[in-house]
Amino acid sequence: MSGPIFEKIALVGIGLIGSSLARVIRREKLAGHIAISTRSAATLDRAEELGLGDSYSTDAAEAVKDADLVIISVPVGSSGEVAAQIAPALKAGAIVTDVGSTKRSVIAQIEPHMPANVHFIPGHPLAGTEKSGPDAGFADLFENRWCIFTPLPGTDAAALEKLSEFWRRCGSDIDTMDPEHHDMVLAIVSHLPHIIAYNIVGTADDLEAVTKTEVIKYSASGFRDFTRLAASDPTMWRDVCLHNKDAILEMLARFSEDLASLQRAIRWGDGEKLFDMFTRTRAVRRSIIEAGQDIDVPDFGRQAIEHPDVLAAQPKS
Ligand code: NAP
Repeated sequence: MSGPIFEKIALVGIGLIGSSLARVIRREKLAGHIAISTRSAATLDRAEELGLGDSYSTDAAEAVKDADLVIISVPVGSSGEVAAQIAPALKAGAIVTDVGSTKRSVIAQIEPHMPANVHFIPGHPLAGTEKSGPDAGFADLFENRWCIFTPLPGTDAAALEKLSEFWRRCGSDIDTMDPEHHDMVLAIVSHLPHIIAYNIVGTADDLEAVTKTEVIKYSASGFRDFTRLAASDPTMWRDVCLHNKDAILEMLARFSEDLASLQRAIRWGDGEKLFDMFTRTRAVRRSIIEAGQDIDVPDFGRQAIEHPDVLAAQPKS
């Protein structure tokens, strides 16, 4: 299928995710009109300088007027506030979706505000970088990435299919699951790794025995790869921790138990246990590459962003 899917798309929030959407919508001609809204005049001005949309407003209600698709791309803790602002201005029959990294909390915040005549379909593209703001986005962000929907009971099948078609044309594969399951899966694949990275970088930063210059100077021996995750947006990740608390605490408890077991193996010189575990985890890395979710080059796949040709040459799942 080609040609616009929606007459007017409103993007509320124009950071990394919102501006990547604006760029891919423009490139793939997915909408007749792109309306952009963000909280601050400074970010809005920057979006306009970058030419990301066709109209611009700091008033989210103004932007969503007559929109057939509204995509909320703000930190998860602000979802309810944005939903309350836009609700009275939504067009009958509009699809409202979001990109938030947690789903149970976002649904609890948005759903109560939604009028009965709009289709609210919660979503989450599993695509991102450690950068934020409208300059950080790029049109290929969603290419070969999953977009997960957590539809509410009674969701209109035609609206869900239309939104799925939109994301497919942004380059994504679609999956659906219930919100609880999403939050548990994301706690292990995304939230826990970020928390571990924040923690290890924080620990290194606190160390007095090793000077900070040495931490930076010798960072390529492993530390550097954690710093990329630990450089992620503090507002976004504060909100993720606060809004997926139960699942994160469950995963942290399991992680702590397993870490204690690893610690014991090191203390008792149990080389066999260490070797077996490190062999098992190496196989996980191979599976990720085979599934097309990273490329087998140094720098943990960052070249996939800077050199999309490298990614294109990799075997697909
Ligand atoms: P971002 O680059 O920091 O941009 C955030 C946007 O939200 C900006 O336009 C900002 O507006 C606006 N905003 C911030 N606080 C707000 C508030 N209280 N009320 C209204 N608008 C507000 O963030 P992002 O990385 O695009 O993340 C957006 C959403 O995508 C989050 O829910 C996040 O969980 C989800 N997500 C992120 C990633 C990732 O890797 N980054 C991946 C998948 C999903 P101003 O600049 O005008 O203040």
